[in-house]
Amino acid sequence: MRKQDMNRDWIATARTLSEALPYLQRYAGSIVVVKFGGNAMGDDEAMADFARDIVLMRQVGVNPVVVHGGGPMINEMLDKLGIESEFVRGKRVTDKKTVEVVEMVLTGLVNKRIVQAIMDEGGRAVGLSGKDDDLMVCVADDPELGFVGKPVEMNVQVLHDLFAAGIIPVIAPVATGMNENETFNVNGDTAAGAIAGALKADRLLLLTNITGVKNKDGEVITQMTPTEVRDMIADGTIAGGMIPKTETALQAVEEGVRGVVILDGRVANACLLELFTEHGAGSMIRSTEPSVKPRGA
Ligand code: ADP
Ligand code: MG
Repeated sequence: MRKQDMNRDWIATARTLSEALPYLQRYAGSIVVVKFGGNAMGDDEAMADFARDIVLMRQVGVNPVVVHGGGPMINEMLDKLGIESEFVRGKRVTDKKTVEVVEMVLTGLVNKRIVQAIMDEGGRAVGLSGKDDDLMVCVADDPELGFVGKPVEMNVQVLHDLFAAGIIPVIAPVATGMNENETFNVNGDTAAGAIAGALKADRLLLLTNITGVKNKDGEVITQMTPTEVRDMIADGTIAGGMIPKTETALQAVEEGVRGVVILDGRVANACLLELFTEHGAGSMIRSTEPSVKPRGA
């Protein structure tokens, strides 16, 4: 690179930092819940990039909460252990043996991998599951599907305690039930939504493997109201895995989360792009809150 070009590069970097000021001011002290899906996780480099974004958020005064998934890692371990699952209406039944593996993989392997990545980037992270301090208490979502939990009671004081200590909570979507020694697996989106709702978070970022919610023509919609989302679910424009995701978004907004963004976690610095630049990223679902930034420019 020629010296002159290099200078231009640094000037652009300085400008980017300067332009981030209103966003840094807006988000200082806010709570941002980030769902990091098993499919968005990728390789070590992607994990380190994600961890860096989270540490940067904390560094500039945001209180980030990471809620993770781990579907692919659970399936791999079930295969290794030769545990075969029963399916009802195309959905896996989470029996006692399966939920043991789920808890092992999510609270053990996946949770600690993320905690370690954040520590490696110079942040402070503590891993917990819904069981810790009764953070998330569930009942069976559909008894036919076994131990798949629907959150019914949230106790988020422990998260506020961690925020006050400057610690980033990393949460595995495994929860306690109403009966003694009961364990539930909770869908990662659902868990993130329930936690964001209970915290009345400023933002819930659902990182996935698509650029956003698309309309019939396949274009990403940058802004949606809850009514528009309901219409798109009703007419089939939103389908498959996007249904539980958008339904989570609707419920979170109803519970007081100011905005939910569905965005591509495979893009480098996805969280920073959304929070701290004029560009934004993905699809934002919220009621009618005025914004400091015009979206989708
Ligand atoms: P995750 O693993 O992050 O939970 P899912 O596969 O469950 O992701 O859900 C996202 C998927 O939903 C997309 O990859 C896409 O195939 C599907 N989908 C269905 N309808 C839409 C839509 N209108 N816009 C975007 N994605 C959609
Ligand atoms: Mg999904």
